[in-house]
Amino acid sequence: MSAPNKQYDPVEVAVLSPEEVTGMRDAALAAIAAAGDLDELKAARLAHAGDRSPLALANAEIGALPPEARAEAGKRVGTARREVTQALATRQEVLAAQRDQWALVEEAVDVTLPWDRAPRGARHPVTTIAERLADVFVGMGYEIAEGPEVEAEWYNFDALNFPPDHPAREMQDTFFVAGPDGAGQSGVVMRTHTSPVQIRAMLTRPLPLYVVSPGKCFRSDALDATHSPIFHQIECLAVDEGLTMADLRGAINAFVEAMFGEGLRTRLRPDFFPFTEPSADVSMECHICRGASTRPGGEPCRVCRSQGWIEIAGCGMVNPKVLVACGIDPDRYSGFAFGLGIERSLMIRHGVTDIRDTLEGDVRFSRAFGMEV
Ligand SMILES: [Zn+2]
Repeated sequence: MSAPNKQYDPVEVAVLSPEEVTGMRDAALAAIAAAGDLDELKAARLAHAGDRSPLALANAEIGALPPEARAEAGKRVGTARREVTQALATRQEVLAAQRDQWALVEEAVDVTLPWDRAPRGARHPVTTIAERLADVFVGMGYEIAEGPEVEAEWYNFDALNFPPDHPAREMQDTFFVAGPDGAGQSGVVMRTHTSPVQIRAMLTRPLPLYVVSPGKCFRSDALDATHSPIFHQIECLAVDEGLTMADLRGAINAFVEAMFGEGLRTRLRPDFFPFTEPSADVSMECHICRGASTRPGGEPCRVCRSQGWIEIAGCGMVNPKVLVACGIDPDRYSGFAFGLGIERSLMIRHGVTDIRDTLEGDVRFSRAFGMEV
């Protein structure tokens, strides 16, 4: 066991020389300044301020110095370590603030974005109103009848008493399906109305007959605010013994009240359709101004264009020729029918001014109608 070495030369503990300590401090400060983020700073802290760092190891050597040299070396190392600790704290603050700043930018939430990434859709208003219209008829005891959209010309025209030279049969009104050779004369058309379903119902269902047929129709109209080459109609047909115009009128009134509001009057004016005789157009009292043709305050009513009445449908007693075409005895049975455009009803009922809104599939339009059940 050796006695303390009184002649110990402090110069021999090289790591405690002022140059060495300054060098360690400078290396530590440089590493701290170079740290670009908190992870790099953590590595710098471990390397330069941890238990195994040069300054910590140097500190441990102080005890090896003769007592008279310890104070100065201790002060030197202590100062250097404090400077490093201070630099670490300052850098930590700067980098943490930088990280928070980035987080604010990168994790920013735009509260104006739609919150629901998978919003529930809405059914198309044409579908919901078609079902609502059909429901009104079903509530009156009618059955739903459907037919093909690509239809034989006989069902679409001939059986409905359209003469061969009727203008509706011309190319500018009707989409004809090309024949097998690519030319015309296939005898098949895209149905121009839902009336062929009446023929199919009369040919296949037992009498008496009460049916309602909603469906898609096609006409070679140019698309504009009030016309569309594809649109929907709904028709009702009743064939029974002893039906008269009074029954037709009653059915129309019940329908209009259910669809547009209680107490609305209807008006029939003579019209012509090949498949009904007599025929009439159906107007209802404007459901907005109630026939007054002006709004409260004297402003003209835009919905009925100040007419007080809105034309909504065509109707009539089934032409006996149509009954005969379907094998029904016109001396025993009579029938009535009326039909209307579904888009038109939607536009009247909800104040839609452009039919194209019903075709474009913009969910902002459909969503406004919500989920109607
Ligand atoms: Zn009006």
